[in-house]
Amino acid sequence: MSQESLLFLNRPAVLACLEKFDPVEVVAEVLRDQAAGRTEIPTEGYLPWRNGNGAYSRAIAMLGALHRETSSVYGMKLINAAVDNPSRGIERAGGLSFAFNPETARPELIAEAGYLSAIRTAAYTMVSLRELGPEQWDGLTLIGTGALARAHLDLLVRNFPEVRRVTVFDLSAERSAQLVAWAAGQHPQLTVAVAASAAEAVSASPVTVTLTTSDDPYVPASWIRPGSFLAHVSLGDLTEEVFLGAEAVFGDDLDLIEENPRRILGRLLQEGRVTRPGTAAAPATGPGRTVDGTLGQVLLGLVPAVRPSTGYVVSNPFGMSILDVGMIDAVRRTAVELGVGQRLDLL
Ligand code: NAD
Repeated sequence: MSQESLLFLNRPAVLACLEKFDPVEVVAEVLRDQAAGRTEIPTEGYLPWRNGNGAYSRAIAMLGALHRETSSVYGMKLINAAVDNPSRGIERAGGLSFAFNPETARPELIAEAGYLSAIRTAAYTMVSLRELGPEQWDGLTLIGTGALARAHLDLLVRNFPEVRRVTVFDLSAERSAQLVAWAAGQHPQLTVAVAASAAEAVSASPVTVTLTTSDDPYVPASWIRPGSFLAHVSLGDLTEEVFLGAEAVFGDDLDLIEENPRRILGRLLQEGRVTRPGTAAAPATGPGRTVDGTLGQVLLGLVPAVRPSTGYVVSNPFGMSILDVGMIDAVRRTAVELGVGQRLDLL
């Protein structure tokens, strides 16, 4: 046997591991670690370019660490995407997750990251719904019907089995139809209807999750029913007024959000029109508000949960490396137990 090797997991091996643990619990545990100050999120590496078709393409390198009582966990997700990949018949985003050996610092496991990354994102939405969603809800709207939409439905049926009514909207009717056909095969208990417009989709359900690739905010406050929860996962869909008029706004990591003015909430924070909890109040001139806190703080009881009542609540998860690190650590432990994966000799 080679002196140095690592374990490689392809998607089937990752799926076999995901059957054995609950990603929603993994994400909730990482969020509690974060709120307790036991995590590290270095600055992300971000490399954007235009491919031969002129389509936005990028690589993001996301390192992170969790410092738990028993041991520390270190790792990284490299997640690359080209927005025109679906027209090639492949998923928009793909990449690799790494788990590092805490003593030698060597990568000891690499795994296909496309589905794992989508599931960690959907798991965050499930935790946010559990803690901040409407007390009672009976229908889910998904705007954008790509890979993230599928991951959300995979976790919806496990976490909210009573919710059977799903409304979807996508600018591409073909992609909506593909999602409906996929859901009929994978989750026949769901009734999936395609809305004629984004406005109709948002007003159809008390919970909306945005999963598009939009850069232009298009959801005004007037579309949102009182008592609704919005998970702004794709970060470029809600207009400023939606943030400014919300009953409550929660994030995942406020530094990450503020560092990125390309995204709406980041820009509002940089402009001082939205402020962080515990800082000076939003400006006296013009509308402004304060972010209520992070989901991890809610989980630890450090800030009160606010569920929608007469208005609506917004969750704005930037997407944290530590969630990927928590997931790859759970996958690593499970892969060792199951004996799945392929050992690759490095030397
Ligand atoms: P995808 O390309 O598979 O699907 C996106 C879909 O959105 C496409 O079908 C496209 O036609 C549709 N779309 C684009 N603009 C639209 C609009 N204005 N209205 C309706 N539909 C529109 O992408 P995906 O892999 O499912 O990812 C979806 C989004 O989630 C991406 O923007 C991605 O960056 C984001 N994301 C966020 C996090 C996070 O933690 N916040 C994590 C992973 C992915």
